[in-house]
Amino acid sequence: MSETKRNSELIYSFKCPSCDKGEISIIKTIYDLPDGDKMLILKFECNKCYFKKNDVIPLTTNREPGIMTLNISNEEDLKSKIYRSPVGKLEIPELELIVEPGPRADFYYTNVEGVILRFESAVLIYRKSLDDNHPEIKEIDEILKNLKKAIEGRFKFTLKITDTEGGSYIIPQDKTKYTFKKIKKCEE
Ligand SMILES: [Zn+2]
Repeated sequence: MSETKRNSELIYSFKCPSCDKGEISIIKTIYDLPDGDKMLILKFECNKCYFKKNDVIPLTTNREPGIMTLNISNEEDLKSKIYRSPVGKLEIPELELIVEPGPRADFYYTNVEGVILRFESAVLIYRKSLDDNHPEIKEIDEILKNLKKAIEGRFKFTLKITDTEGGSYIIPQDKTKYTFKKIKKCEE
């Protein structure tokens, strides 16, 4: 773990709505990020079924606008956490996949694996909408093949977030694979 974890505490528990047998515990953890910021993570977890959910709340709001880049080359890197603010643009250049800035809640807080899985289901939906002899199919199947490899940690790629306002985060598993480049607020 590259970030420092502290103050993990159980704050509440209640009966699981999913299996109706287990108890869901809410665990609150504050992470100290490498740059001195803090992030609050609320983890919901059932002790009987597989119900699991994470919520993240950045505790520090003013951050430098910048371009965050993470190189992913193994399974461990897939666990790196991602927080994309609504103004952040997220992309994987090697696969030509982009999430444009905007309120796409499913891409707010996840890890790299979660990003890949969401891209995969989006590409699959798009593929289904095409005829089998559509000229794009070959290229799409290639992307799907690489996404599959990526989930297994067998495809090297770059995850890039461009955030012109500040607020997005990458918390890398391996700090040496992460870079942050400041950008000036764009003059219009
Ligand atoms: Zn349950």
